[in-house]
Amino acid sequence: MQLSRHDLSQLDEAYLAGLQEPSLRALSLKLLADLKEAHERLAQDPSNSSRPPSSRAPWEAAQAGEEQGKTLAQSAEAGDGQEATPPEPGVESESDAPSDAGEARRPGRRPGAPGHGRTQCLAVHAERHHHPPGCAICGRSLSAAAETRTASAHYVIDLIPPGPGRTGLEAIQVKQVYHAHRCGCGHWTQAEPAEGGEEADWTVRLSERHLAGPMLVALICALSLRMRLSRRRIREFLADWLGLSLSAASINQCLHEAGRAVAPVVEEQLLAEVRASDLLHADETSWKEHGKLLWLWVFTSATTTVFMIGRRSQELLHSVLGSVLHGWLMSDGYWAYRDYDNRLRCLTHLLRKARGLEESLEAEARGFGRALRGCIEAVMAAVYAAREGPPPKGLRAQHAEALNALLALCLQHAEAKHAKTRALARELLNDWDTFWVVLDHPELPLTNNAAERALRHWVIARRISYGTRNSQGSRAFTALASVIDTCHQRGLSPWEYIAEVLRHRRQGNPAPALPAAATV
Ligand SMILES: [Zn+2]
Repeated sequence: MQLSRHDLSQLDEAYLAGLQEPSLRALSLKLLADLKEAHERLAQDPSNSSRPPSSRAPWEAAQAGEEQGKTLAQSAEAGDGQEATPPEPGVESESDAPSDAGEARRPGRRPGAPGHGRTQCLAVHAERHHHPPGCAICGRSLSAAAETRTASAHYVIDLIPPGPGRTGLEAIQVKQVYHAHRCGCGHWTQAEPAEGGEEADWTVRLSERHLAGPMLVALICALSLRMRLSRRRIREFLADWLGLSLSAASINQCLHEAGRAVAPVVEEQLLAEVRASDLLHADETSWKEHGKLLWLWVFTSATTTVFMIGRRSQELLHSVLGSVLHGWLMSDGYWAYRDYDNRLRCLTHLLRKARGLEESLEAEARGFGRALRGCIEAVMAAVYAAREGPPPKGLRAQHAEALNALLALCLQHAEAKHAKTRALARELLNDWDTFWVVLDHPELPLTNNAAERALRHWVIARRISYGTRNSQGSRAFTALASVIDTCHQRGLSPWEYIAEVLRHRRQGNPAPALPAAATV
């Protein structure tokens, strides 16, 4: 929008009557552009909005309407970072909710509770003055404006991170002052804090009006996602070590805003890089979103990691990976992966299951487990040897006989009485070729450890936080987790990058791309 509410409030019939033709023409163009934009916005719904298709996860489609109503009612500023589910017995609750909060606790301020305003009285370290660049009506420069006045002011608390010659963190408070100037044409134009435009499914705003500056938001992200602190603990840390009094709701708003800021980086850039990688590891683990069972998915290559929270479904896989993958995909046996060519399966998983069968009380299971273990161990040993020595010749042919014998055994056990034997035989048959690809490509990994390792940190986070509270929280969480892990893989500081992205996005600009690798 070119004209602000403040500009429009000054326009009326008498005002227009007093304008010269060039000014009137310039103003008409602005009004026309704004009117067109307003019409387009009115006609916008999630099915035709400008968001890229990849940024809308398929599982959100059904619940979008319901979420919209709910979030409008409870407002983005409400503290919704904590699960209200009662803690498991014997586990210390990290929730902000009092123990008698009950299941139906709504997020946000209790009636009668004190508000979440700024309670501390930090000294003002600096003032920053903002002036309008030109007249909103006639476009004339305002540097020599006849009249000026202060239009608005607010405070931003930010951090000066450690740098050359300085250690430790320093919190500073900056007073941001916005001025209005009166042009020769008579119009008052005022500078205003920048805001990111609306984006579907996000209720948290990207705004320079927010109390926490970009580096403080980045620190809160580090405390929450990397140090896995609850909102309550973050609050305690900020108060004890920086003298800052931020409410749990403000902390939650920072996390959601940072998540929203980096989401396009993940949903556009990182997803595309994951799809284009030569070798991708995928895995999933259960996740709770407001008590609902979902899955935390990870897709990780040598240089990029993307997390998603959603259903365990083919739709989700397609939304992340697309319908065709050119590189290798290492995954577990979930059926939806079978749509992809060039798949690999983790041999150590299979080995574990084979060992399990060997310990069975059923003779049939023991026999099958032993045969399977022998076969896998032989294949793994051959692959290790091939990686050390000269390029192997005919590794597949060397093992053909043993594999054929195992295949016959699987067919024979596909209807076995013993449930685990039957299940394992069928799992092998379903994915038969994918287990033995390493015989043709010994350079490929034997295990899915990379994906399991990528999930481990967040599995502990899940235990502490009991999952996420709503779809916005889940999306913010996975966007930040993806950026943090990818930065670490590339030798970059996730915190400086998150602060940088937030700075751009609060000004309504696109997020800078995540660099390929550290430059120093
Ligand atoms: Zn003017």
